[in-house]
Amino acid sequence: MKNSMKRKINIQFIRIIVLCIAAILLLFTGLFYQLFQKEVMDDLRVCALQLKTVKIEEQKDMQKATTGGLRVTVVRKDGSVLFDNITDPLKMANHSKRPEIEAAFQDGEGKAVRKSETLNKSTFYYAILLEDGNVLRVSKEAGNVWNIIFYALPFIIEMTVLILLATVIVSHYLTKSIVKPIEQAAQDMEHLGVVNIYEELRPFIEMIQTQHRDIVQNVQVRQEFTANVSHELKTPLTAISGYAELIENGMASEADITRFAKEIHRNSNRLLTLINDIIRLSQLDVVENELEKEPVDICQVGQCMVDMLQFTAEKYQVSVHYEGEPVIMDANRTMMEELIYNLTDNAIRYNKPNGEVFVTIKKEEKGASITVKDTGIGITKENQERIFERFFRVDKSHSRETGGTGLGLAIVKHIIVQHKAKLDLDSEPGVGTTITVHFQE
Ligand code: ATP
Ligand code: MG
Repeated sequence: MKNSMKRKINIQFIRIIVLCIAAILLLFTGLFYQLFQKEVMDDLRVCALQLKTVKIEEQKDMQKATTGGLRVTVVRKDGSVLFDNITDPLKMANHSKRPEIEAAFQDGEGKAVRKSETLNKSTFYYAILLEDGNVLRVSKEAGNVWNIIFYALPFIIEMTVLILLATVIVSHYLTKSIVKPIEQAAQDMEHLGVVNIYEELRPFIEMIQTQHRDIVQNVQVRQEFTANVSHELKTPLTAISGYAELIENGMASEADITRFAKEIHRNSNRLLTLINDIIRLSQLDVVENELEKEPVDICQVGQCMVDMLQFTAEKYQVSVHYEGEPVIMDANRTMMEELIYNLTDNAIRYNKPNGEVFVTIKKEEKGASITVKDTGIGITKENQERIFERFFRVDKSHSRETGGTGLGLAIVKHIIVQHKAKLDLDSEPGVGTTITVHFQE
Protein backbone atom coordinates (compact mmCIF):
# COMPACT_ATOMS: atom_id res chain seq x y z
CA MET A 1 0.00 0.00 0.00
CA LYS A 2 2.77 2.35 0.96
CA ASN A 3 4.62 1.61 -2.25
CA SER A 4 1.64 2.31 -4.40
CA MET A 5 1.05 5.58 -2.58
CA LYS A 6 4.63 6.66 -3.19
CA ARG A 7 4.38 5.63 -6.79
CA LYS A 8 1.20 7.59 -7.21
CA ILE A 9 2.73 10.76 -5.79
CA ASN A 10 5.80 10.22 -7.94
CA ILE A 11 3.79 9.78 -11.10
CA GLN A 12 1.74 12.84 -10.27
CA PHE A 13 4.88 14.90 -9.80
CA ILE A 14 6.35 13.76 -13.11
CA ARG A 15 3.07 14.32 -14.87
CA ILE A 16 2.95 17.92 -13.65
CA ILE A 17 6.54 18.55 -14.70
CA VAL A 18 6.00 17.05 -18.15
CA LEU A 19 2.96 19.26 -18.59
CA CYS A 20 5.00 22.26 -17.47
CA ILE A 21 7.80 21.48 -19.91
CA ALA A 22 5.34 21.11 -22.75
CA ALA A 23 3.62 24.37 -21.86
CA ILE A 24 6.91 26.27 -21.54
CA LEU A 25 8.22 24.86 -24.83
CA LEU A 26 5.07 25.85 -26.62
CA LEU A 27 5.16 29.33 -25.15
CA PHE A 28 8.81 29.87 -25.96
CA THR A 29 8.53 28.54 -29.48
CA GLY A 30 5.65 30.89 -30.13
CA LEU A 31 7.48 33.82 -28.60
CA PHE A 32 10.68 33.04 -30.39
CA TYR A 33 8.94 32.71 -33.72
CA GLN A 34 7.28 36.07 -33.25
CA LEU A 35 10.65 37.62 -32.54
CA PHE A 36 12.14 35.92 -35.55
CA GLN A 37 9.36 37.23 -37.77
CA LYS A 38 9.92 40.74 -36.53
CA GLU A 39 13.63 40.42 -37.15
CA VAL A 40 13.13 39.24 -40.73
CA MET A 41 10.68 42.07 -41.40
CA ASP A 42 13.09 44.64 -39.98
CA ASP A 43 15.84 43.31 -42.24
CA LEU A 44 13.56 43.55 -45.24
CA ARG A 45 12.64 47.08 -44.29
CA VAL A 46 16.24 48.17 -44.07
CA CYS A 47 16.91 46.63 -47.48
CA ALA A 48 13.87 48.34 -48.95
CA LEU A 49 14.93 51.70 -47.57
CA GLN A 50 18.37 51.28 -49.11
CA LEU A 51 16.95 50.20 -52.46
CA LYS A 52 14.57 53.16 -52.45
CA THR A 53 17.43 55.40 -53.49
CA VAL A 54 18.43 53.28 -56.48
CA LYS A 55 17.06 54.34 -59.84
CA ILE A 56 15.03 51.73 -61.65
CA GLU A 57 16.98 52.52 -64.77
CA GLU A 58 20.05 51.17 -63.08
CA GLN A 59 18.65 47.69 -63.05
CA LYS A 60 22.02 46.17 -63.12
CA ASP A 61 22.95 47.87 -59.91
CA MET A 62 19.75 46.66 -58.36
CA GLN A 63 20.42 43.16 -59.60
CA LYS A 64 23.76 43.38 -57.90
CA ALA A 65 22.36 44.77 -54.72
CA THR A 66 19.80 42.08 -54.42
CA THR A 67 21.89 38.97 -54.30
CA GLY A 68 21.62 36.72 -51.25
CA GLY A 69 18.12 35.33 -51.59
CA LEU A 70 16.43 38.69 -51.75
CA ARG A 71 13.75 39.20 -54.35
CA VAL A 72 12.96 42.71 -55.46
CA THR A 73 9.85 43.69 -57.35
CA VAL A 74 8.64 47.07 -58.49
CA VAL A 75 4.92 47.41 -59.14
CA ARG A 76 3.13 50.20 -60.98
CA LYS A 77 0.05 51.92 -59.66
CA ASP A 78 -2.21 49.71 -61.86
CA GLY A 79 -0.71 46.56 -60.37
CA SER A 80 1.42 45.54 -63.37
CA VAL A 81 4.97 44.55 -62.60
CA LEU A 82 7.61 46.99 -63.76
CA PHE A 83 10.65 45.13 -62.50
CA ASP A 84 11.50 41.81 -60.91
CA ASN A 85 14.98 40.51 -60.33
CA ILE A 86 14.02 36.83 -60.65
CA THR A 87 11.15 36.49 -63.16
CA ASP A 88 10.40 38.32 -66.37
CA PRO A 89 7.98 41.12 -65.36
CA LEU A 90 5.83 40.56 -68.43
CA LYS A 91 5.05 37.03 -67.35
CA MET A 92 3.92 38.10 -63.91
CA ALA A 93 0.29 38.48 -62.86
CA ASN A 94 -1.28 41.73 -61.74
CA HIS A 95 -0.17 42.51 -58.19
CA SER A 96 -2.76 45.12 -57.22
CA LYS A 97 -4.63 42.71 -54.95
CA ARG A 98 -1.63 41.58 -52.91
CA PRO A 99 -2.21 42.83 -49.37
CA GLU A 100 1.31 44.30 -48.90
CA ILE A 101 1.11 46.16 -52.23
CA GLU A 102 -2.36 47.46 -51.49
CA ALA A 103 -1.24 48.66 -48.11
CA ALA A 104 1.86 50.34 -49.52
CA PHE A 105 -0.18 52.29 -52.08
CA GLN A 106 -2.52 53.35 -49.36
CA ASP A 107 -0.26 53.96 -46.34
CA GLY A 108 3.20 54.12 -47.87
CA GLU A 109 4.19 50.80 -46.32
CA GLY A 110 2.88 47.19 -46.27
CA LYS A 111 3.82 43.87 -44.78
CA ALA A 112 2.72 40.26 -45.32
CA VAL A 113 3.78 36.73 -44.62
CA ARG A 114 2.57 33.92 -46.87
CA LYS A 115 3.13 30.21 -46.97
CA SER A 116 5.60 29.15 -49.58
CA GLU A 117 5.16 26.21 -51.88
CA THR A 118 7.89 24.50 -49.92
CA LEU A 119 6.25 23.05 -46.85
CA ASN A 120 8.58 24.37 -44.20
CA LYS A 121 9.00 27.89 -45.52
CA SER A 122 7.17 31.14 -45.45
CA THR A 123 7.75 34.16 -47.66
CA PHE A 124 8.06 37.52 -45.96
CA TYR A 125 7.08 40.60 -47.91
CA TYR A 126 7.86 44.23 -47.24
CA ALA A 127 6.57 46.89 -49.60
CA ILE A 128 7.23 50.64 -49.65
CA LEU A 129 5.87 53.51 -51.77
CA LEU A 130 8.48 55.17 -53.98
CA GLU A 131 8.62 58.87 -54.81
CA ASP A 132 7.68 58.15 -58.43
CA GLY A 133 4.39 56.54 -57.30
CA ASN A 134 5.44 52.95 -57.83
CA VAL A 135 5.79 50.42 -55.04
CA LEU A 136 9.01 48.65 -54.26
CA ARG A 137 8.62 45.24 -52.67
CA VAL A 138 11.34 43.19 -51.08
CA SER A 139 10.70 39.59 -50.17
CA LYS A 140 12.59 36.73 -48.69
CA GLU A 141 11.92 33.12 -47.81
CA ALA A 142 12.48 32.04 -44.26
CA GLY A 143 11.59 29.09 -42.05
CA ASN A 144 8.18 28.95 -40.42
CA VAL A 145 7.29 27.62 -36.98
CA TRP A 146 7.71 23.98 -37.93
CA ASN A 147 11.05 24.75 -39.41
CA ILE A 148 12.18 26.38 -36.23
CA ILE A 149 10.86 23.58 -34.09
CA PHE A 150 12.62 21.13 -36.33
CA TYR A 151 15.92 22.92 -35.86
CA ALA A 152 15.39 23.25 -32.14
CA LEU A 153 14.28 19.65 -31.74
CA PRO A 154 17.61 18.13 -30.64
CA PHE A 155 18.01 20.86 -28.09
CA ILE A 156 14.40 20.44 -26.91
CA ILE A 157 14.82 16.69 -26.53
CA GLU A 158 18.08 17.13 -24.68
CA MET A 159 16.59 19.65 -22.29
CA THR A 160 13.46 17.56 -21.76
CA VAL A 161 15.45 14.46 -20.91
CA LEU A 162 17.64 16.45 -18.53
CA ILE A 163 14.71 18.09 -16.76
CA LEU A 164 12.88 14.79 -16.56
CA LEU A 165 15.88 13.14 -15.01
CA ALA A 166 16.15 15.90 -12.47
CA THR A 167 12.42 15.62 -11.82
CA VAL A 168 12.58 11.89 -11.22
CA ILE A 169 15.33 12.36 -8.67
CA VAL A 170 13.73 15.34 -6.93
CA SER A 171 10.32 13.72 -6.99
CA HIS A 172 11.75 10.59 -5.43
CA TYR A 173 13.08 12.54 -2.46
CA LEU A 174 10.03 14.77 -2.20
CA THR A 175 7.72 11.78 -2.17
CA LYS A 176 9.86 10.17 0.45
CA SER A 177 9.65 13.20 2.68
CA ILE A 178 5.88 13.48 2.17
CA VAL A 179 5.29 9.85 3.06
CA LYS A 180 7.78 9.76 5.91
CA PRO A 181 5.44 11.04 8.70
CA ILE A 182 2.82 8.53 7.63
CA GLU A 183 5.32 5.70 7.78
CA GLN A 184 6.54 6.87 11.14
CA ALA A 185 2.99 7.05 12.42
CA ALA A 186 2.30 3.55 11.20
CA GLN A 187 5.38 2.26 12.96
CA ASP A 188 4.75 3.95 16.25
CA MET A 189 1.07 4.70 16.75
CA GLU A 190 1.35 5.18 20.48
CA HIS A 191 3.90 7.99 20.47
CA LEU A 192 2.47 10.41 17.97
CA GLY A 193 3.32 13.31 20.22
CA VAL A 194 6.91 12.97 19.03
CA VAL A 195 6.18 12.34 15.37
CA ASN A 196 5.25 15.37 13.33
CA ILE A 197 2.09 14.00 11.80
CA TYR A 198 -0.16 15.80 9.29
CA GLU A 199 -3.21 17.51 10.70
CA GLU A 200 -5.43 15.75 8.16
CA LEU A 201 -4.29 12.38 9.40
CA ARG A 202 -4.74 13.11 13.08
CA PRO A 203 -8.44 12.11 13.38
CA PHE A 204 -7.71 8.95 11.47
CA ILE A 205 -4.80 8.02 13.70
CA GLU A 206 -6.72 8.94 16.81
CA MET A 207 -9.53 6.68 15.71
CA ILE A 208 -7.09 3.81 15.24
CA GLN A 209 -5.57 4.54 18.63
CA THR A 210 -8.97 4.45 20.30
CA GLN A 211 -9.87 1.26 18.51
CA HIS A 212 -6.56 -0.25 19.49
CA ARG A 213 -7.10 0.62 23.14
CA ASP A 214 -10.65 -0.74 22.94
CA ILE A 215 -9.35 -4.00 21.57
CA VAL A 216 -6.76 -4.31 24.32
CA GLN A 217 -9.37 -3.49 26.92
CA ASN A 218 -11.79 -5.96 25.40
CA VAL A 219 -9.20 -8.70 25.56
CA GLN A 220 -8.59 -7.88 29.21
CA VAL A 221 -12.30 -7.93 30.00
CA ARG A 222 -12.65 -11.23 28.22
CA GLN A 223 -9.73 -12.77 30.07
CA GLU A 224 -11.15 -11.56 33.34
CA PHE A 225 -14.53 -12.93 32.39
CA THR A 226 -13.11 -16.36 31.57
CA ALA A 227 -11.25 -16.43 34.87
CA ASN A 228 -14.42 -15.41 36.71
CA VAL A 229 -16.54 -17.99 34.92
CA SER A 230 -14.09 -20.74 35.78
CA HIS A 231 -14.08 -19.67 39.37
CA GLU A 232 -17.87 -19.42 39.58
CA LEU A 233 -18.32 -22.83 38.01
CA LYS A 234 -15.78 -24.40 40.31
CA THR A 235 -17.55 -23.58 43.57
CA PRO A 236 -20.85 -25.41 42.99
CA LEU A 237 -19.10 -28.24 41.16
CA THR A 238 -16.70 -28.78 44.08
CA ALA A 239 -19.69 -28.90 46.44
CA ILE A 240 -21.57 -31.35 44.23
CA SER A 241 -18.52 -33.55 43.85
CA GLY A 242 -17.85 -33.47 47.61
CA TYR A 243 -21.38 -34.46 48.62
CA ALA A 244 -21.52 -37.15 45.96
CA GLU A 245 -18.21 -38.56 47.20
CA LEU A 246 -19.46 -38.71 50.77
CA ILE A 247 -22.53 -40.65 49.64
CA GLU A 248 -20.42 -42.88 47.41
CA ASN A 249 -18.12 -43.87 50.29
CA GLY A 250 -21.08 -44.74 52.45
CA MET A 251 -20.09 -42.06 54.93
CA ALA A 252 -23.53 -40.48 54.98
CA SER A 253 -26.45 -41.55 57.11
CA GLU A 254 -29.96 -41.81 55.69
CA ALA A 255 -30.75 -38.32 56.99
CA ASP A 256 -27.50 -36.93 55.58
CA ILE A 257 -28.22 -38.37 52.18
CA THR A 258 -31.44 -36.36 51.92
CA ARG A 259 -29.59 -33.24 53.05
CA PHE A 260 -26.71 -33.87 50.64
CA ALA A 261 -29.10 -34.56 47.79
CA LYS A 262 -30.75 -31.25 48.53
CA GLU A 263 -27.37 -29.53 48.45
CA ILE A 264 -26.47 -31.26 45.21
CA HIS A 265 -29.79 -30.20 43.76
CA ARG A 266 -29.30 -26.58 44.88
CA ASN A 267 -25.78 -26.41 43.52
CA SER A 268 -26.70 -27.94 40.18
CA ASN A 269 -29.51 -25.42 39.86
CA ARG A 270 -26.99 -22.70 40.52
CA LEU A 271 -24.74 -24.13 37.85
CA LEU A 272 -27.64 -24.20 35.41
CA THR A 273 -28.58 -20.57 36.12
CA LEU A 274 -24.96 -19.56 35.79
CA ILE A 275 -24.53 -21.35 32.49
CA ASN A 276 -27.80 -19.91 31.19
CA ASP A 277 -26.66 -16.40 32.10
CA ILE A 278 -23.28 -16.90 30.44
CA ILE A 279 -24.91 -18.24 27.30
CA ARG A 280 -27.26 -15.25 27.33
CA LEU A 281 -24.38 -12.80 27.68
CA SER A 282 -22.42 -14.33 24.83
CA GLN A 283 -25.57 -14.24 22.71
CA LEU A 284 -25.96 -10.57 23.51
CA ASP A 285 -22.32 -10.05 22.55
CA VAL A 286 -22.81 -11.64 19.15
CA VAL A 287 -25.99 -9.94 17.95
CA GLU A 288 -24.59 -6.49 18.67
CA ASN A 289 -25.80 -5.02 15.39
CA GLU A 290 -28.86 -6.91 14.29
CA LEU A 291 -31.43 -6.25 16.98
CA GLU A 292 -34.78 -7.77 16.07
CA LYS A 293 -37.40 -5.22 16.99
CA GLU A 294 -41.17 -5.45 17.01
CA PRO A 295 -43.98 -3.39 18.53
CA VAL A 296 -44.07 -4.46 22.17
CA ASP A 297 -46.74 -3.61 24.74
CA ILE A 298 -44.37 -2.80 27.60
CA CYS A 299 -47.25 -2.53 30.04
CA GLN A 300 -48.32 -6.07 29.34
CA VAL A 301 -44.74 -7.36 29.58
CA GLY A 302 -44.33 -5.61 32.94
CA GLN A 303 -47.51 -7.19 34.31
CA CYS A 304 -46.37 -10.59 33.08
CA MET A 305 -42.98 -10.35 34.78
CA VAL A 306 -44.41 -9.12 38.05
CA ASP A 307 -46.86 -12.04 38.05
CA MET A 308 -44.03 -14.42 37.34
CA LEU A 309 -42.06 -13.10 40.31
CA GLN A 310 -44.99 -13.31 42.74
CA PHE A 311 -43.73 -16.60 44.09
CA THR A 312 -40.26 -15.19 44.79
CA ALA A 313 -41.80 -12.15 46.41
CA GLU A 314 -43.78 -14.31 48.78
CA LYS A 315 -40.66 -16.24 49.63
CA TYR A 316 -38.87 -13.03 50.59
CA GLN A 317 -41.96 -11.60 52.25
CA VAL A 318 -41.98 -8.61 49.95
CA SER A 319 -45.07 -7.11 48.34
CA VAL A 320 -44.82 -6.02 44.73
CA HIS A 321 -47.02 -3.22 43.37
CA TYR A 322 -47.49 -2.76 39.70
CA GLU A 323 -48.75 0.25 37.82
CA GLY A 324 -48.56 0.58 34.06
CA GLU A 325 -49.77 2.90 31.33
CA PRO A 326 -50.37 1.17 28.03
CA VAL A 327 -47.35 1.90 25.84
CA ILE A 328 -46.46 0.23 22.56
CA MET A 329 -42.77 0.51 21.73
CA ASP A 330 -40.52 -0.76 19.01
CA ALA A 331 -38.22 -3.08 20.94
CA ASN A 332 -36.95 -6.59 21.33
CA ARG A 333 -39.59 -8.45 23.33
CA THR A 334 -37.28 -11.00 24.99
CA MET A 335 -34.92 -8.27 26.05
CA MET A 336 -37.72 -6.18 27.53
CA GLU A 337 -38.84 -9.20 29.54
CA GLU A 338 -35.31 -9.85 30.77
CA LEU A 339 -34.80 -6.24 31.70
CA ILE A 340 -37.95 -5.91 33.79
CA TYR A 341 -37.48 -9.37 35.25
CA ASN A 342 -33.88 -8.76 36.36
CA LEU A 343 -34.59 -5.36 37.91
CA THR A 344 -37.67 -6.58 39.76
CA ASP A 345 -35.94 -9.78 40.83
CA ASN A 346 -33.12 -7.72 42.38
CA ALA A 347 -35.58 -5.36 44.05
CA ILE A 348 -37.27 -8.34 45.68
CA ARG A 349 -34.13 -10.21 46.62
CA TYR A 350 -32.12 -7.33 48.02
CA ASN A 351 -34.99 -6.27 50.19
CA LYS A 352 -36.00 -6.64 53.80
CA PRO A 353 -38.87 -8.70 55.19
CA ASN A 354 -42.12 -6.77 54.81
CA GLY A 355 -40.39 -4.59 52.24
CA GLU A 356 -42.08 -3.21 49.16
CA VAL A 357 -41.36 -3.04 45.46
CA PHE A 358 -42.99 -0.65 43.00
CA VAL A 359 -42.81 -1.35 39.30
CA THR A 360 -44.09 1.51 37.16
CA ILE A 361 -44.36 1.82 33.37
CA LYS A 362 -44.95 5.33 32.06
CA LYS A 363 -45.51 6.79 28.66
CA GLU A 364 -43.03 9.57 27.92
CA GLU A 365 -42.96 12.32 25.34
CA LYS A 366 -40.81 10.20 23.05
CA GLY A 367 -40.96 6.58 24.22
CA ALA A 368 -41.45 5.14 27.66
CA SER A 369 -39.86 4.70 31.07
CA ILE A 370 -39.64 1.71 33.35
CA THR A 371 -39.11 2.39 37.06
CA VAL A 372 -38.36 -0.24 39.68
CA LYS A 373 -38.29 1.08 43.19
CA ASP A 374 -37.67 -0.86 46.38
CA THR A 375 -37.47 -0.25 50.10
CA GLY A 376 -34.55 -2.64 50.38
CA ILE A 377 -30.98 -2.61 51.61
CA GLY A 378 -29.76 -0.06 49.11
CA ILE A 379 -26.34 0.25 47.42
CA THR A 380 -23.41 2.37 48.59
CA LYS A 381 -22.04 5.09 46.29
CA GLU A 382 -18.83 3.22 45.42
CA ASN A 383 -20.74 0.04 44.60
CA GLN A 384 -23.28 1.84 42.42
CA GLU A 385 -20.79 2.06 39.59
CA ARG A 386 -19.68 -1.54 39.90
CA ILE A 387 -22.96 -3.47 40.11
CA PHE A 388 -23.20 -3.52 36.30
CA GLU A 389 -19.92 -5.39 35.98
CA ARG A 390 -20.09 -9.07 35.19
CA PHE A 391 -20.02 -11.26 38.31
CA PHE A 392 -20.00 -8.30 40.64
CA ARG A 393 -21.98 -8.80 43.82
CA VAL A 394 -21.94 -6.46 46.77
CA ASP A 395 -22.14 -9.15 49.38
CA LYS A 396 -20.84 -12.35 47.85
CA SER A 397 -22.07 -14.72 50.54
CA HIS A 398 -25.50 -13.13 50.80
CA SER A 399 -25.90 -13.03 47.06
CA ARG A 400 -24.84 -16.64 46.74
CA GLU A 401 -27.35 -17.54 49.35
CA THR A 402 -30.04 -15.90 47.29
CA GLY A 403 -28.75 -17.71 44.22
CA GLY A 404 -27.33 -14.68 42.41
CA THR A 405 -24.48 -14.96 39.93
CA GLY A 406 -23.83 -11.30 39.44
CA LEU A 407 -24.76 -11.32 35.75
CA GLY A 408 -28.30 -9.95 35.91
CA LEU A 409 -27.35 -6.26 35.77
CA ALA A 410 -24.61 -6.94 33.20
CA ILE A 411 -27.35 -8.29 30.95
CA VAL A 412 -29.55 -5.27 31.76
CA LYS A 413 -26.73 -2.92 30.81
CA HIS A 414 -26.26 -4.75 27.53
CA ILE A 415 -29.95 -4.43 26.70
CA ILE A 416 -29.93 -0.73 27.56
CA VAL A 417 -26.94 -0.06 25.31
CA GLN A 418 -28.51 -1.93 22.43
CA HIS A 419 -31.77 -0.03 22.75
CA LYS A 420 -29.88 3.24 23.17
CA ALA A 421 -31.80 3.76 26.40
CA LYS A 422 -30.69 5.67 29.50
CA LEU A 423 -30.50 4.40 33.05
CA ASP A 424 -30.84 6.44 36.23
CA LEU A 425 -29.86 4.93 39.53
CA ASP A 426 -30.78 6.41 42.86
CA SER A 427 -29.98 4.47 45.98
CA GLU A 428 -29.36 4.96 49.65
CA PRO A 429 -28.07 2.19 51.89
CA GLY A 430 -30.74 1.06 54.32
CA VAL A 431 -33.46 3.07 52.60
CA GLY A 432 -33.88 1.60 49.15
CA THR A 433 -33.05 1.76 45.48
CA THR A 434 -34.81 3.29 42.49
CA ILE A 435 -33.74 2.38 38.97
CA THR A 436 -35.37 4.11 36.01
CA VAL A 437 -34.79 3.22 32.38
CA HIS A 438 -35.77 5.77 29.72
CA PHE A 439 -36.44 4.49 26.22
CA GLN A 440 -36.55 6.86 23.30
CA GLU A 441 -37.91 5.94 19.94
P1 ATP B 1 -28.15 -12.55 39.09
O1 ATP B 1 -29.03 -11.39 38.86
O2 ATP B 1 -27.22 -12.82 37.99
O3 ATP B 1 -28.87 -13.75 39.53
P2 ATP B 1 -27.13 -10.85 41.14
O4 ATP B 1 -28.50 -10.39 41.46
O5 ATP B 1 -26.19 -11.01 42.28
O6 ATP B 1 -27.16 -12.19 40.31
P3 ATP B 1 -26.94 -8.50 39.56
O7 ATP B 1 -28.39 -8.53 39.30
O8 ATP B 1 -26.04 -8.15 38.45
O9 ATP B 1 -26.43 -9.88 40.14
O10 ATP B 1 -26.65 -7.50 40.73
C1 ATP B 1 -25.33 -7.28 41.15
C2 ATP B 1 -25.29 -6.88 42.60
O11 ATP B 1 -25.84 -5.60 42.78
C3 ATP B 1 -26.11 -7.77 43.46
O12 ATP B 1 -25.38 -8.88 43.87
C4 ATP B 1 -26.47 -6.88 44.63
O13 ATP B 1 -25.44 -6.90 45.59
C5 ATP B 1 -26.53 -5.52 44.02
N1 ATP B 1 -27.90 -5.08 43.76
C6 ATP B 1 -28.56 -5.20 42.61
N2 ATP B 1 -29.81 -4.69 42.70
C7 ATP B 1 -29.93 -4.21 43.95
C8 ATP B 1 -31.00 -3.57 44.69
N3 ATP B 1 -32.17 -3.30 44.11
N4 ATP B 1 -30.76 -3.22 45.96
C9 ATP B 1 -29.56 -3.50 46.55
N5 ATP B 1 -28.53 -4.10 45.91
C10 ATP B 1 -28.71 -4.47 44.64
MG1 MG C 1 -29.91 -9.97 39.87
